[in-house]
Amino acid sequence: MKQRTLSIIKPDAVKAGYIGDILSRFQKEGLHIVAMRMTQLSQSQAEGFYAVHRERPFFGELVEFMTSGPIVAITLEADDAIQGYRTLMGATDPAKADEGTLRKLYASNVQNNAVHGSDSPENAQIEIAYFFSALDLVG
Ligand code: ATP
Ligand code: MG
Repeated sequence: MKQRTLSIIKPDAVKAGYIGDILSRFQKEGLHIVAMRMTQLSQSQAEGFYAVHRERPFFGELVEFMTSGPIVAITLEADDAIQGYRTLMGATDPAKADEGTLRKLYASNVQNNAVHGSDSPENAQIEIAYFFSALDLVG
């Protein structure tokens, strides 16, 4: 069943020049780009996006990191896109990520981990709407 998920190329990966490599990997893996936008999150936008983590001890640093530079938000579409993309990303901590995954290749540590991906259909819908209106989504 066709499904959509939200990807973010995080500030560390944008700064390091990995946008092109990551986008090309989406295309190789059959994750179709249906919307894409570069932006820099304000503090309140980053806090809103990661609201589910607001009680976690690393929340303040996470918000600081996510606002530290431009990001690229992308809506991806494929059969089973949410799990497929999470497998492509690899474990949250790049030290635990499988070979060839985006985090193994491009992440520095558990916080500066290059990419974000939605973790459920409910969150994918909320996260896509956080960055895109229905008119932005192609097809
Ligand atoms: P994401 O939601 O970004 O796709 P994830 O689902 O693998 O990643 P979450 O548990 O949702 O991981 O954590 C959200 C983000 O918070 C992580 O991607 C990472 O940037 C940061 N983070 C997670 N755990 C830690 C930690 N122990 N220390 C610092 N930052 C962390
Ligand atoms: Mg998550």
